[in-house]
Amino acid sequence: MPGQPHRVTLIPGDGVGPEVVRAARRIIEAAGVAIAWEEAEAGAAVFRRGDTSGVPRETRESIERTRTVLKGPLETPVGFGEKSANVTLRKLFETYANVRPARELPGVPTRYAGEGIDLVIVRENIEDLYAGIEHMQTPDVAQCLKVISRKGSEKVIRYAFELARREGRGRVTCATKANIMKLTEGLFKRVFEAIAPEYAADGIAADHLIIDNVAHQLAKNPAQFDVVVTTNLNGDIISDLASGLVGGLGFAPSGNYGDGVAIFEAVHGSAPKYAGKDVINPTALILSSIMMLRHLGETTAADRIEDAILVTLEEGKVMTADLARQAGGDVEHAASTSGFTDEVIANLGRQPGTVRSRSARPAEVGAAGAPVPAGAGAPPPVPHVRWTYGPDAASAVERRTIGVDLFLESWEAPETAGPALEALAGEALRLEMISTRGTMVYPPTGISPDAVGLLRARFVARAAGAEVADAEVLALLGRVAERFRWTHLEKLHVFAGEPGFTKAQGQ
Ligand code: NAD
Repeated sequence: MPGQPHRVTLIPGDGVGPEVVRAARRIIEAAGVAIAWEEAEAGAAVFRRGDTSGVPRETRESIERTRTVLKGPLETPVGFGEKSANVTLRKLFETYANVRPARELPGVPTRYAGEGIDLVIVRENIEDLYAGIEHMQTPDVAQCLKVISRKGSEKVIRYAFELARREGRGRVTCATKANIMKLTEGLFKRVFEAIAPEYAADGIAADHLIIDNVAHQLAKNPAQFDVVVTTNLNGDIISDLASGLVGGLGFAPSGNYGDGVAIFEAVHGSAPKYAGKDVINPTALILSSIMMLRHLGETTAADRIEDAILVTLEEGKVMTADLARQAGGDVEHAASTSGFTDEVIANLGRQPGTVRSRSARPAEVGAAGAPVPAGAGAPPPVPHVRWTYGPDAASAVERRTIGVDLFLESWEAPETAGPALEALAGEALRLEMISTRGTMVYPPTGISPDAVGLLRARFVARAAGAEVADAEVLALLGRVAERFRWTHLEKLHVFAGEPGFTKAQGQ
C-alpha cells in the first residue's frame, strides 16, 4: 500500500531469535509491506552489560515511538537481574491481553488432525499471581498475592469479546477456578457475566467453565472451543496445552496487546542448542508476524503470507527437522530455516487447497478502543466500550470494616494460643477463630491439621457486625505484639453488604 511505511521495533533477541526474526522480516518484505524497522536490543547481552532490566532505554524509547514490536525470544541469564526481560516489556507497556491462537495446520501431524481445531486463548497478562508480590511470612512459609482487579478483568474480557466480534467467532468461554477462589477468580467470572449480555446481539454466546474442566475438554474434544478468556496463571498453562494440540512450540504464535501498543512473538524460547545453526522452525514467528500485519491493518499482505505458509506446510516438500521428525519424514535432509523461508516466499500468491483461508474474516485491529495505526487498511468495526470500573464507581460502594485477620508466626498449639489471644482481644473486639493454612483450628473443631508455624487470628467487633475503628485495630496490634510475632494484617471489609473476605474451612 502506498503512503507512510509502518514503524516497527524489531528485537532479534537471543539464541535462535535473530534467525527466526530474519525469516519473518524477509517474508514481510517479499510480500511488499513497507515497514521502517527500528532494530533494538533486549535480553542476555543487555543483562550482562549490567542493565538489570534487560530492556535498555533506547529500546523503550523506540517502542514509545513505534507502538509495535516484533521480537525474538529473550534470555534472562542466571545470576543477572531478577526479572525476566519479557515480563518487563509486557509490564512496561501494559500489554494486558495475551492472545494465543491454536489452529490446526495442514501437513502438521497431531493426534487431533482433521478435527478442525481453531481456537484462541486470551490470557490476562498483568495481574494474578504474576503481579510478582511474594513474601516469606516466616522462614518456612512463603506467600504470593493473587491480585485480580475489576479493571484488569474488564479490559481483557472486553478484548476477548471484541476479538470474537472482529473475527466472526460465535462463542467466548470464561475459564476460572471461581468455585474455590470465590473472590479473586470469582471477580473475573462476575465481570465476564456482566459484560457478556452486551455481545449477545452480535451473536456471541458466552459460557463459563471451571478451568480444570477446560483442561479436560481440551484434551478430549478441543474443536468445541472458540475463544477462551482466562486469568494469567490459568492462561499460561492452557495456552501451552493448546499449542501442543496443534503441533507444538514451533507453530505457536502470540500477540501481547495493550492500549495502542502490541508486542508479537513466538511462544518458544531461545533454543540455545540450535542457535546460529540455521535449523530452527521459523513458523511460529512467521505466524506472529501475520498477527502483527493484521494489527497494522495490512490484511491483504497478512492473508497472502498466511496462504503461502499454509501451502508450504500442506505440500510438505520443504520441512524443518522438527516437523520432519513429527511427520516421519527425512530428518537427515531436512530444510534449513532459510530454505524453509525461501519456499514460503516462493509460495506467495498461491492459495492452499485443503484449508479454509482466514482471509474471509475481518481484520484484527488491536485492543478495544485502541487507535487504528497510521497506514491501516479498512477501518475497524466500532468497538463496544462501556467501562464499569473507576474511582467514582468504587467510591460509591457502601463499605464497613468489621474486623481484622492478624497473621502470627507461631508454633503454639491452638489450645494455648486461643485463650491467650482471647485475653488480648480487648473490650471492643473478640477473637472469632484461629486458622492455619485456611483451616479453622480454634475454637476446636475436632480436626488437628499439621502445624506450619503460621496462625491466622480473626478478630471482629464484640457487637455483631459493628464497625471496627482503626484506633481499636492499632491498639489490638500493640497488645498482641507483646506476646506474639505478627507478620501481617488484613482488614475485613463488607462492601455493599457483601463480605469482602472468605470463611475458613470448617468455620
Ligand atoms: P525453548 O522453547 O527454547 O526450547 C524448548 C524445546 O523446544 C527445545 O528442545 C527446543 O530445541 C525446542 N524448540 C524451541 N523452539 C523451536 C522451534 N522454533 N523449532 C523447533 N524446535 C524448537 O525453551 P527453554 O529451553 O525452556 O528456554 C530457553 C531460553 O529461552 C530460556 O532462557 C528461557 O528463559 C527463554 N524463553 C524465552 C521466551 C520468550 O522470550 N518469550 C519464552 C520461553 C523461554
